[in-house]
Amino acid sequence: MSELKLCQGPDCHTYHTKDRLKGQKDNKTYQTRRRSNFYYGNGNFCSFNCQHDWFQLYGDRAIDHFGRLTEPKHLTEQNAWVKGYDWNHTTDECQHHIINKITLEQRPLTEEQYRDNNYTLNER
Ligand SMILES: [Zn+2]
Repeated sequence: MSELKLCQGPDCHTYHTKDRLKGQKDNKTYQTRRRSNFYYGNGNFCSFNCQHDWFQLYGDRAIDHFGRLTEPKHLTEQNAWVKGYDWNHTTDECQHHIINKITLEQRPLTEEQYRDNNYTLNER
């Protein structure tokens, strides 16, 4: 059995829904949601609401911690590569590619390259 994750929303337990009410008959409390999988915030939150609550509480500190932008970024040929894919309905195959948003040059990618978050043609 896979391990259950807790929603990271700081106020998750304060939302009164039936599924959050847990415990023995006379001792039920509203609790943080616990599931094998969440669909918000990289799988850390049970809802957009909980993701938003987290950002309201910690967002500024997180941005300062990881580096606040102080100047605008510029999209150039050197950093305009983005990954994408096309589904071929005839062959039922997925074609992965990387395309430069400035030059519109497109190159094929293997599925492994597509899934590898560190793989890029962008200069860092
Ligand atoms: Zn939650």
